[in-house]
Amino acid sequence: MKLLVVEDEAKLSRMLQRGLTEEGHQVDVCATGEDAFERLAQVPYDAVVLDWSLPDADGPTLLRRWRERGDAVPVLMLTARGTTGEKVAGLRAGADDYLVKPFDFDELLARLEALVRRSGGRQSAPVVGDVTLDPRKRCLRRGAEEAGLTSREYALALEFFTHPGEVLSRTRLMSSVWGLDFDGQPNVVEVYVGYLRTKLQGLGAATTVQTVRGVGYRLVGAP
Ligand code: CA
Repeated sequence: MKLLVVEDEAKLSRMLQRGLTEEGHQVDVCATGEDAFERLAQVPYDAVVLDWSLPDADGPTLLRRWRERGDAVPVLMLTARGTTGEKVAGLRAGADDYLVKPFDFDELLARLEALVRRSGGRQSAPVVGDVTLDPRKRCLRRGAEEAGLTSREYALALEFFTHPGEVLSRTRLMSSVWGLDFDGQPNVVEVYVGYLRTKLQGLGAATTVQTVRGVGYRLVGAP
């Protein structure tokens, strides 16, 4: 399994990385919410271990952002406190399971494996019109034809594919794909929508991104 561990306690993070790697899994670790947000946009993980309390964000808020972005990756949340209120809040935010620190490594491993089994071991691939967005290979697919996507293109495509037909504003795309504190080119959304259109056209797809003047963009299955 390809796993992401989001934990700011260095000792625990190292222990998890070592333990999970020894079990034959590929493990990435990060210590902040922002870093986790970026990685998830780039890599199709099979599951995430998410600490409740991080230096720049709390786990449930972060998880809600992922879910709003359409990311269905299975998440096991860790917390130091085991109150029922927190468990409910974590699960409401979209966690698939929940473990209270200190926990037994074997239990964490068993729960992670169960999560991935339940999710079918892969994220679902959204389809709009004649095009599929493949989260594993991070590409657009139409029939046997594929067009690879960069990490940003994939994150943008995921926004569109998980909200088909919906008009998405530039501000919304900017904050979900580039983050709220992005201070680069203001036309970056237009530029990347252009890249996406070119790739869809390259596949000969009927699916396209329409401009809704003064509002934003929407992905439609046919022009
Ligand atoms: Ca922590």
